Amino acid sequence: METQLAGALRERGQRVTPQRLVIARVMQQLDRHATAEMVFGEVSSQMPGVSLPTVYATLDLLEELGLVHRVATEGGTVVFDPRTDNHHHLVCRACGAITDIDAPVQPDAVLTAARDAGFAPDHAQVTVRGLCRNCAPS
Ligand SMILES: [Zn+2]
Ligand SMILES: [Zn+2]
Repeated sequence: METQLAGALRERGQRVTPQRLVIARVMQQLDRHATAEMVFGEVSSQMPGVSLPTVYATLDLLEELGLVHRVATEGGTVVFDPRTDNHHHLVCRACGAITDIDAPVQPDAVLTAARDAGFAPDHAQVTVRGLCRNCAPS
């Protein structure tokens, strides 16, 4: 992810800063859905002095480059996902837990419909809302 980010930044004439690279590295190391605040916490322990706005801006950039995905969650929390292959999410409406699921859902039809509506889609995924194992009444 770091190499891809560095390449993309150079291509855009933007600076390849150690801060940006460490954010990309942390995202890969975390290897799970993470909020900007979680990424910020980890980045701060590896490279003190990186600001939260820098983390936000870099995560936006990584998303734009397709290196992370943004996952819609409960309560408007933005969560970034280092896994960008085709997969779907379970989101618990009680505790906010996000779990990956693999299901043979092909988003092609949805993407085609989106394009037909004049929309320029980045990607499509299914979000299943409900209660996780811990929160569901047994
Ligand atoms: Zn839950
Ligand atoms: Zn995921």
